[in-house]
Amino acid sequence: MPYKDPAAAKAQAQRYYQRNKEKLWKNPDGTWKTTRTPEQKRQQQRESYERNKERINAERRAAAAANRREGDCPLCFAKGVRLVRDHCHRLGHTRGYICNHCNLALGHARDNAATLVRLIAYLGRSRS
Ligand SMILES: [Zn+2]
Repeated sequence: MPYKDPAAAKAQAQRYYQRNKEKLWKNPDGTWKTTRTPEQKRQQQRESYERNKERINAERRAAAAANRREGDCPLCFAKGVRLVRDHCHRLGHTRGYICNHCNLALGHARDNAATLVRLIAYLGRSRS
């Protein structure tokens, strides 16, 4: 990166675009790579989303519902609570279904067991 200053980097990118507009938008044979401007593309994507949003949102709701369960949390023993799918952020596999509080606790500790052990020790120290 030649510029640490974001404004200078943006100005450089704009100069590059102005100098290379033709190369970026045209094929070697001189025909346009696309007949749509970026604004037209964005508009078409918006319209496509509007046409399909009920299906897209239904799929998202179904996926969210598949990840939700009711029951007892195996970690804090809360009874009859909503359980969420807990997954490993490094490998992606499902570790189990736990309550939202426990899931957030793991997430806030960044799944770091050593941090959790230190938190337990800290909790013990502050009790008197
Ligand atoms: Zn829990």
